[in-house]
Amino acid sequence: MPKSKVDALVIGSGVGGLCVAARLVEQGLSVSVIEKLPYLGGRFSTRDIKGFKITTGAIMVPFGERSAFHETYRLMEAPFNVREGKGGFRYRLSHGEYDPPAEGGGGLLGMLEFATGDEAAAKALFRHFRRALGWWEPSDTISFEEWLSQHTSHPEVHNLLQGFCAAFIGTSINEVPAGEYFRFLKAMGRNNRYGIAVNGNIELMESLAESVANRGSSVVTNAACKGILVEKGRVRGALVVRDAVEERVDADFVISNAGPNRTIRLAGEENFEKSYLALLREHPHATPVFHVCIRSPEPLDPYPGIINFGNTRRLIFLECPTLTCPELAPEGMHITTTFSVPESSTPPIKRRQTIEEIMVDLEENFPSFHRKKADVMVTAHHAEWPSMRRWPGHPMPTKTPVENLYNVGDGCMPPGTVGIEACALSAKDVARQISSGR
Ligand SMILES: Cc1cc2nc3c(=O)[nH]c(=O)nc-3n(C[C@H](O)[C@H](O)[C@H](O)COP(=O)(O)OP(=O)(O)OC[C@H]3O[C@@H](n4cnc5c(N)ncnc54)[C@H](O)[C@@H]3O)c2cc1C
Repeated sequence: MPKSKVDALVIGSGVGGLCVAARLVEQGLSVSVIEKLPYLGGRFSTRDIKGFKITTGAIMVPFGERSAFHETYRLMEAPFNVREGKGGFRYRLSHGEYDPPAEGGGGLLGMLEFATGDEAAAKALFRHFRRALGWWEPSDTISFEEWLSQHTSHPEVHNLLQGFCAAFIGTSINEVPAGEYFRFLKAMGRNNRYGIAVNGNIELMESLAESVANRGSSVVTNAACKGILVEKGRVRGALVVRDAVEERVDADFVISNAGPNRTIRLAGEENFEKSYLALLREHPHATPVFHVCIRSPEPLDPYPGIINFGNTRRLIFLECPTLTCPELAPEGMHITTTFSVPESSTPPIKRRQTIEEIMVDLEENFPSFHRKKADVMVTAHHAEWPSMRRWPGHPMPTKTPVENLYNVGDGCMPPGTVGIEACALSAKDVARQISSGR
């Protein structure tokens, strides 16, 4: 069997995998990234469908000085072709729409005033939020909905915050742990800048991979890890199959971007101690999301930012990325991206019922939308290709019980973070642990 040796082997080229590879290369390690698919990026990539660049997952790209994702590109001097979102965030309830001020704060109070239609009631409720943000962070033993119900039963406040939780945190108001909601709000307060990848996510992932390759390391596609090698509690490398040839890659460190569950399957459950497995099984679910992509000459809505819905059954998010980046569609055409969540994030997912409800939501909110006439593509993301591998508030640690074996990606989201930024932060954390242990 052919053999090779690197300092660090990274399994998977998602955001977590490529960000950790970049940071380790930057520290001077030799790194090999192996990706089983023919393309890079995993759930942050692009499919070209008749000239439309459609995302395989994420659409909002964290951006700016305070983003760990953006920081990775600066470290590697890699091109970061992201255009800041043109619009802001718009909240829609059955009685109207609210656009928070672009700058200067006041967004949350304004949202509560909009939902209640009562300045005094909103101020009283806001005081509870302020205390939870500044003095007493609620524990994760109750859901955010339970926390909120102590202070208000106003249905529109619940509707508004259901839309917010589902769209921006990833699960519904009754599924987000109370503490995690407030940690997320604090993190959002530190940085809520986002952009859109001008030529699709794949360009960004290829840019990072190229910067890794330019420093003498390698990133290869169509290369699958078949097993992680563990001896005496320590990782030794992995077996990799590429072009039907099996190879042994020895490595001092193995970092898996395949998700904690798959990492265990690859390395063998017998190598993981009981407390780690118990943590994994305590809350084993991924977060589901339904992506409805509409291709049309006119955007479904002319608003250039993100619309968040609290007046719907399942629909929670709509953005037309081509209003910011026309490069994503053939000339004169648009992509409208919508995300929706099922009634419950716990499997089994009611696929047919959820899609039916999304279509009704779209028809009710957008009179110009006719499901039979529109060019509509529906993708249900769950199980092995979810929006996130674990529910926010229930992450696995990046470190595993097997020495020098780590996980990165959205199975290991640091508190208060989700999606791309969480993956980039998990990568930063692993690179720091490896550099401090060497
Ligand atoms: C519809 C949708 C919308 C989203 N919207 C947003 C958004 O707007 N903003 C945001 O920040 N986040 C968003 N997210 C979440 C974000 O896309 C993910 O959190 C992120 O992309 C996950 O990256 P990851 O590092 O966990 O790796 P993944 O994307 O899971 O990549 C892992 C890679 O590992 C490879 N792999 C697995 N097993 C092996 C093996 N044995 N050998 C070799 N390779 C292997 C896989 O093929 C894959 O390419 C969205 C997700 C979805 C699905």
